[in-house]
Amino acid sequence: MENCLFCKIAAGEIPCNKAYEDDAVLAFHDIAPQAPVHVLIIPKKHVGDVTALVPDDAALWFHMAEVANKLAKELKVDEKGFRIVTNVGADGGQSVNHLHLHLLGGRSMKWPPG
Ligand code: 5GP
Ligand code: ZN
Repeated sequence: MENCLFCKIAAGEIPCNKAYEDDAVLAFHDIAPQAPVHVLIIPKKHVGDVTALVPDDAALWFHMAEVANKLAKELKVDEKGFRIVTNVGADGGQSVNHLHLHLLGGRSMKWPPG
């Protein structure tokens, strides 16, 4: 989608610090990390947010979770635990309107979140 930051990163038009890539999904380190491990997992195709997923995206949504789990292991946060977050809309704190999972780990997370 035109003028979408994460579509441009997925297309390689804007550089990123890549953590994982395949045909459907890209994962890269957040530019402003909120934890020692902070990776974003995005679908390569444009999906605005989790509410825009359709039944045909079931395999893609599962695959995003699978990639997050694989990265949690690789980045060695799987044993102590981690958090996966997807923000939606203004109150949810979403600033980039292209679906992404935040994988956060390497420190103890607070609950409730801010
Ligand atoms: P949101 O606020 O939409 O849930 O998350 C967007 C995330 O994208 C934020 O954590 C922000 O730091 C990150 N971000 C914004 N622009 C860039 C960028 O150009 N490169 C990378 N790697 N991360 C970005
Ligand atoms: Zn996009």
